[in-house]
Amino acid sequence: MKSLPKEFDSVAIERKWQKQWEEMGIYRFDWKDTERAIFSIDTPPPYPSGEFHMGNVLNWTYFDIVARYKRMRGCNVYFPQGWDCHGLGIEVQVEKENNIRKREVPPDKFRKLCEKLVEKYIAMMKEGVIRLGCSVDWTTEYRTMNPDYWRRTQLSFIILHNKGFMYQGTHPVNWCPRCETAIADAEVDYEEHEGTLHYIRFPLENSDEHLLIATTRPEFIPACVAVAINPTDERFSKYIGRKITVPIINRTVDIIPDENVDPAFGTGVVMICTYGDKEDVKTVIKHKLPIIMILTENGSINENGGKYKGLTIDEAKKAIVDDLKAAGLLEKTEKIPQEIGVCDRCEAPVEILERKQWFMKTRILTDKIEKTANEVIWHPDYMKTRLTDWARSLDWDWVISRQRVFGTPIPIWYCKKCGEVILSEANWVPIDPKLEKPRIGKCPKCGSTEFLPERDVFDTWMDSSISCAVHAGWPDKEDWRRLFPADMHPSGIDIIRTWAYYLMVRHLALFDEKPYKSCLINGMVLGSDGRKMSKSLKNYVAAPEVLDKYGTDAARQWAAGGGATGSDIPFRWPDVEYGRRFLTKLWNAARFVSTQLTDYKVDEKYELQLLDRWILVKSEKLTQRVTDALDKCQFNIAIEEIRNFTWHEFCDQYLEAVKDRLYKPELYGKENQKAVKFTLYNVLYRIIQLLAPITPHVTEEIYQAIYVEDKGQKSLQLVPWPMLEDAKIDGEAERRGELVMAVITEIRREKSEKRKPLNTPIKRLKIYAGSSEFAQIISENKGDITGTCKVLMIEILSEKGKGRQIQEIPKISFVSEY
Ligand SMILES: [Zn+2]
Ligand SMILES: [Zn+2]
Repeated sequence: MKSLPKEFDSVAIERKWQKQWEEMGIYRFDWKDTERAIFSIDTPPPYPSGEFHMGNVLNWTYFDIVARYKRMRGCNVYFPQGWDCHGLGIEVQVEKENNIRKREVPPDKFRKLCEKLVEKYIAMMKEGVIRLGCSVDWTTEYRTMNPDYWRRTQLSFIILHNKGFMYQGTHPVNWCPRCETAIADAEVDYEEHEGTLHYIRFPLENSDEHLLIATTRPEFIPACVAVAINPTDERFSKYIGRKITVPIINRTVDIIPDENVDPAFGTGVVMICTYGDKEDVKTVIKHKLPIIMILTENGSINENGGKYKGLTIDEAKKAIVDDLKAAGLLEKTEKIPQEIGVCDRCEAPVEILERKQWFMKTRILTDKIEKTANEVIWHPDYMKTRLTDWARSLDWDWVISRQRVFGTPIPIWYCKKCGEVILSEANWVPIDPKLEKPRIGKCPKCGSTEFLPERDVFDTWMDSSISCAVHAGWPDKEDWRRLFPADMHPSGIDIIRTWAYYLMVRHLALFDEKPYKSCLINGMVLGSDGRKMSKSLKNYVAAPEVLDKYGTDAARQWAAGGGATGSDIPFRWPDVEYGRRFLTKLWNAARFVSTQLTDYKVDEKYELQLLDRWILVKSEKLTQRVTDALDKCQFNIAIEEIRNFTWHEFCDQYLEAVKDRLYKPELYGKENQKAVKFTLYNVLYRIIQLLAPITPHVTEEIYQAIYVEDKGQKSLQLVPWPMLEDAKIDGEAERRGELVMAVITEIRREKSEKRKPLNTPIKRLKIYAGSSEFAQIISENKGDITGTCKVLMIEILSEKGKGRQIQEIPKISFVSEY
């Protein structure tokens, strides 16, 4: 047994163990083990942003605690790590850094630039994951941009295509004109803007009358296909069925009834344009209206815009408003607050475009998703409705094609002559149709030998939404269902609608089974001002700053203890400082114990005293509470319980109360001293066991110094979690110990209130126990009281009396003479 040094260098300790754990290979999943229960974590492969921020610290700490806890509970833990590489964010960044647009460079070259940037970002994030001490099995590392991963994404598409889930269609999609690609509902953010409401006169056909229409988007006048009125609106219902002229372009359209028109908005008369917004899409479908697309893919006006062709949206708006003014058709304008959808990658306003896209039928699964979501255990439970509400809110199927370069190719060709869709065979993948022809001689329909490749790629979520199956070993490992469904899928509250949702639809469609058995949700990290932490809000704290200053184990305590699981967690420096102070307290206690135990032998004879039994019972009860909290993923409860016990009951109370017995064996007896050593040895061990999932580094350092030889496991992380034994809960010892501790604590409290050093002798102490039972307990343990409080003479009376009352047991009081 080694005694610990005085200095506690957390950074050196953390680096040392991170390196040694990896060398020991203790976090590797044992594929050959058929004995132990498996616990598989569906680690969400992060999108490499080049930064490991406090939000990452929060969620990785959560699932690393679970991984370490389950390992100690005897599970064969599977903790894989991949990187979700493809996506718009990387393309936008490559364009910025190289000052190019993706259409200007050959796709191959652009892809290479993306891959290079992704590798740089992965290296930075990986460093963060390692520094946080995550017990990842690095032999499982993968990248979704590698062809071997394409193979899985493409195969899943082929299977779903054959099952009838995939279709191609022209359907309105959210479109980012800057990124020139379709984007999913989940990729649209909403922002408040000030818009201008234009009141425009639409002349009624064969009449001198006109109707006034208010719109924020006059540039869409060339795409106006109808004018709608709420049939219950008595002011205007008489016009329904008549025809009206669209100004500027002088096209005549019908006035139609639609109960979704809000009579209170604008003038109560609205123009329906294809497509000014999502409402237009619904109205067009409902009334089977014609479609006039006036936008090109980069957001300028096309030939359907007549004389405005070639203008950008903003230029067209200005020109049309000028023309309306000149024609005397613009009655007035007013400013209004307006919510507009923007691209979550580049913040350009999103438009709605019709373009041929690939879709996955997701809405037909909505009932099944709801049913399955109820079978999943959610931490916390109320998060489940986030998934079901989202699934219910979706108007459109999932657009899975993207007009991008850096993505998994869609394994499809088209016959040049007849347009027949040629789907790749399962054994052709991975394949890039832009580089290879289909492996069939001729078109099965018309016999032509010429084919055109599908140039679109998959939405990134097509890669990452099969992670549960891929992690389990699908499609290569025959027994992949051993690890499927995953035991736990961790997710941020903000990505339930994407990650948890897409995983659910893909796996239900592919395998008719839920992808995960439980879902662990983390909230957002808030800045010190209470708002979501973000660079633009200047409330941002970089993770390396925190880790450098206070160390990983302190930062992990902040993550675990910052609030209830699933709630938003404020970042507060004092929380991390408190974590750091706790580590110092623990270190000093362990150092004290280690210096007392240098000659300790595990099998020595001892005679436990009341306070020894008391702290041992307390540690058993603590174990129960911590186990229960970790089973429920209530990390904040677990860390608070352990910290309170260690700090107050173990350090402040027990350690102080037994020092006399430790130092004066001649007075109390050798076996009595050994009882203290036995207790110190076991309670400290219990503390580091319980803390091991949360603060793995400092506890490993203590374990290696004091326990490694006796316990026989090369790492604390491999030590079994303490088994709960009800027989060890000696309620009587706890009650009696509590009473003695309360007396000692009150005497020490009095000393500190009188500003006397704690070792000041008390000449005479008179205790009024309030009952003969209490008097007996105190008498039996008076040595602990006189030793700890330096009492020279003690008198114990069973009656109730005067003096200072014991806070915890007011029946007891005492009078001290100094
Ligand atoms: Zn964009
Ligand atoms: Zn053909």
